[in-house]
Amino acid sequence: MDNCPGCGAMAPVHDTHGVSYTYKGQHTTIPGVAAYHCASCGDVRLDPAAVHRYDELVARFHRKVDAALVDPAYLRAVRKKLRLDHDEADEVFGTDHFERYEAGKAQPHPSTVALVKLLDRHPELLAEVRGV
Ligand SMILES: [Zn+2]
Repeated sequence: MDNCPGCGAMAPVHDTHGVSYTYKGQHTTIPGVAAYHCASCGDVRLDPAAVHRYDELVARFHRKVDAALVDPAYLRAVRKKLRLDHDEADEVFGTDHFERYEAGKAQPHPSTVALVKLLDRHPELLAEVRGV
């Protein structure tokens, strides 16, 4: 790259380092991203050769965030469907604050969300999960 497309300054620097990235309020650092950095205006452009990998890592992060994001009302609906109170829900899901998840004050771990979805589809497995 000869000149910065942003400000026209000479020769942006080719460099590789982590790029911070935010999706739905969740932060991550995409490691080892090759890009051109302009010292004059701060403009950063991905090295065209790095775009595919970058997009793939971003897509993976989106999937991870989306898997963990769950509507608090859904958690409440499943707990009610399973006829659990908050303490019982903590016992079944191995959580300390299921109530806080329902209130949208905390984000459950993806494995908790996976178990909630599983029991939503197969409530007959509840007894097995509880070990009774
Ligand atoms: Zn520039």
